[in-house]
Amino acid sequence: MCNQHSFLEGLMSHGLLLDTGVDGLYGRGGGFEDVVARFDALITSFGGGDGAEVVRFPPGMNRKLFEKSGYMKNFPQLAGSVNSFNGDDKQHARLLDKIECREDWSADLAATDIVLAPAACYPLYPTVAKRGALPEQGRLFDLNSYCFRHEPSKDPARMQMFRMREYVRLGTPGQVTEFRATWLERGRALIEKLGVPFDVDVANDPFFGRAGRMMAASQRDQNLKFELLIPIESVEKPTACLSFNYHQDHFGSLWGIATSAGEVAHTACVGFGMERVALALFKHHGFETKAWPAAVRAALWG
Ligand code: AMP
Ligand code: ZN
Repeated sequence: MCNQHSFLEGLMSHGLLLDTGVDGLYGRGGGFEDVVARFDALITSFGGGDGAEVVRFPPGMNRKLFEKSGYMKNFPQLAGSVNSFNGDDKQHARLLDKIECREDWSADLAATDIVLAPAACYPLYPTVAKRGALPEQGRLFDLNSYCFRHEPSKDPARMQMFRMREYVRLGTPGQVTEFRATWLERGRALIEKLGVPFDVDVANDPFFGRAGRMMAASQRDQNLKFELLIPIESVEKPTACLSFNYHQDHFGSLWGIATSAGEVAHTACVGFGMERVALALFKHHGFETKAWPAAVRAALWG
């Protein structure tokens, strides 16, 4: 689609995204980062009063915990692993030869203890599990992390490395479904302030393979995932910019997280695609933030 191409080129020619030579891997210019930071603050203005515990994980997570999370069963196509060299001098010479001859040198590396985080909330559940049963009011967390997903694309809204801000709620089914209902409303109110067209719809995660198609259908049937969609690259296929996920007792039973009453905890998260919302703003209001509508500027810069 030539339309895609020109938006990406426009972002680059205005210094908003910087080309690295890899689709979906970009540097960010100051103007782009300013919008991301202002959107981050806008999220906090909606959710900051809830008393969430702020936690920041690095963009890598414990490989063993990642294995236990089941991510490789459901989304192997998206995963990224950190590998490193730990050979001797001879193996090092062979490695350099391969690089020199432009041969594949990946087999000369070995897996480290770290994989790349696929979502901001993945490292959280095992961390919370270690604290024991939840307090009566459950728990609420505020997360933000760079995430990796191997989905190279020319669509600037489909990045391989991007930031996800999340609020994650753990508690009884009632506490958790109320959290998600609240954020479905807040998400709409928040994006309304940004003056971009949007829609909220039921959705599914891109589960892998034949078994995955059934998982996706069941996720939809049960209304476990909603997305707030904004047209960025195409009007027909708008882009998911916010996600509202109800995991039921999936993570609670996987990691052994109990409520104060001893039941398996339920969990839900709301995820904000920081780059996607910034891109939606540039798409609909133009590359020059100074020329954006006054109401949008007021919502972001106050
Ligand atoms: P998900 O876990 O797929 O619901 O993702 C949470 C949020 O992250 C989505 O609502 C998007 O805004 C954002 N996101 C997911 N994948 C990408 C990507 N490839 N590039 C940029 N943002 C993404
Ligand atoms: Zn999450």
